[in-house]
Amino acid sequence: MKLKDKTIIVTGSTMGIGEAIARRCVAEGARVLIHGLDERELGEALCAELGEAAALHLDDLSDTAAPARIIAAAIAAFGSIDGLVNNAAIVAQGNLEDTTTEHFDRFIAVNTRAPMFLIKEALPYLEKSQGPVVNIGSVNAYCGEENLLPYSISKGGLQTLTRNLGDTLHRRGIRVNQVNPGWVLTKQEQQRRMDQGMEENWPTRIPVAYSPARRLITPEEIASTVIHFLSAEFGPISGAVVDLEQYPMIGRNPLKHLE
Ligand code: NAD
Repeated sequence: MKLKDKTIIVTGSTMGIGEAIARRCVAEGARVLIHGLDERELGEALCAELGEAAALHLDDLSDTAAPARIIAAAIAAFGSIDGLVNNAAIVAQGNLEDTTTEHFDRFIAVNTRAPMFLIKEALPYLEKSQGPVVNIGSVNAYCGEENLLPYSISKGGLQTLTRNLGDTLHRRGIRVNQVNPGWVLTKQEQQRRMDQGMEENWPTRIPVAYSPARRLITPEEIASTVIHFLSAEFGPISGAVVDLEQYPMIGRNPLKHLE
């Protein structure tokens, strides 16, 4: 077991990639603080399944007081923190024309500011346990699409946070690394695309340019790398940002892949 007796906080773990990470953490021997925005039923069902290894705390990360409450909830439930996975994010559309200042600020608050202040609040505990941080970014951090402007900016900021703290916190024994998932098929993603007008069977009809494997990445496939980053096996590596996409994000000639 890679995480035996460790306590890991996984934000946004009531569903999707966070849920898959939380399940793998428990399978690897850890206790997990399940966190989400307001999905109480989902969170309670997951905790019931995971048993004593899981505790639930719902909190809106746009609230500046949430990071302190989340850390306090983990300490109240388990007494220590051995790892933090900043996974929660607003995943939504927005372009230059339709993004309001309020909308933009909310993306930054949840996707960029909250991870930084969660690390700050967890610092005394992580320093004590020499526990790592894994941030879940996105390949959109490098540029992103026209209709993912505030989301992409928020993930670009997160990537800089990872590299900065991956450097400065390492001296204190805390490794900070990041995975940038490509396109992952979660239940929410399935629904989001249908809300955007795609047919129910859209995951079976992804153009090969986006999916050379002819299928999307699964949440479990992202989770397995996150577990490796959290484990002692990953060694002293810090400040790494690893793209988990089906093709290279930099240097690919898109014209070759048009169909
Ligand atoms: P999801 O929408 O399925 O789940 C998001 C989670 O974040 C939920 O638990 C939700 O409650 C929580 N959350 C959202 N807003 C919140 C808020 N204001 N306060 C507290 N919690 C909040 O998302 P997902 O697709 O599983 O994505 C998980 C992570 O992976 C995100 O960081 C996302 O940016 C990243 N990612 C996803 C994909 C993809 O294709 N699904 C691709 C690249 C990166």
